[in-house]
Amino acid sequence: MIEQRYDDRDGVIWMNGSFVPWREANLHVLNHGLHYGSCVFEGMRAYNGSIFKATEHNERLHSSANILGMKVPYSVAELDAASREALKRSGFADAYLRPIVWRGPEQMGVSAQKTSTQVAIAVWQWPSYFTPEARLKGIRIDWAPWRRPDPATAPVKAKAAGLYMIATMSKHAAEACGYSDALMLDWRGRVAETTGANIFLIKDGIINTPVPDCFLDGITRRTVIGLARAVGYQVVERAILPSELPGFSEVFVTGTAAEVTPIAEIAGEHFFQVGEITRRLMTDYDALVRGGAGTATRAAE
Ligand code: PMP
Repeated sequence: MIEQRYDDRDGVIWMNGSFVPWREANLHVLNHGLHYGSCVFEGMRAYNGSIFKATEHNERLHSSANILGMKVPYSVAELDAASREALKRSGFADAYLRPIVWRGPEQMGVSAQKTSTQVAIAVWQWPSYFTPEARLKGIRIDWAPWRRPDPATAPVKAKAAGLYMIATMSKHAAEACGYSDALMLDWRGRVAETTGANIFLIKDGIINTPVPDCFLDGITRRTVIGLARAVGYQVVERAILPSELPGFSEVFVTGTAAEVTPIAEIAGEHFFQVGEITRRLMTDYDALVRGGAGTATRAAE
């Protein structure tokens, strides 16, 4: 199925303080963000008409922009309000929201001291990152040919567009071999994350996850750690080596787009069950984002 083009849709996009018709939310080809990767973004989801953790996402957008030396000309509260209004105008109850910040067209060249900082928020329907069937069975992922960079090499704590260059190349390589995604090691050869989600690995009832010292500490990651601890699971953040993979029984990934998605296979070498802990956390995450009550839900908020 061919996706509907992103530049040819009905609706409006919030752009630099006002709503513009979807098809008119355009940039000039000579734009610093496009040429030099001076661009940061967010991905958030709305469930039943309300955005999950909007403020945390908009705070991270500010922080990512600051890391790249850009100052977002709208406060987090203004971005929260704009996000809510954009969702309302979309008419969708369940939707994906993409706030994005980039340097404008005032300068070309590496130096961009005089560029404006531009901001937009678009809303669309993006069901599940992986198909519902794949999510039930667990997805199959390959090893990525690229590694997450050393913090001395790239601004690893920013959700910066430039960091997705190696993610797209890795995901394409995995898809070419029939896999859904790719597992990236970090610059030291430790297990890091997939191309757009954090990873959790379970052994003897204990949930292990890599320390996010050179990749995004996902908002979903933190939420799921809270949910797991609230129901009594032990969660350990530690360095995980690929040589440990045969010892794990369940593996899953977390992200705003991916939510909680089980992993069934890594590169034809390692196979995992969609086990009890993964299923419990999928259910609890769903209940939390959809505003469900319950001890686990309240404790994790
Ligand atoms: N890592 C990467 C590379 C991502 O793109 C994402 C999705 N934003 C995540 C992790 C998960 O982050 P979050 O849970 O905040 O969506």
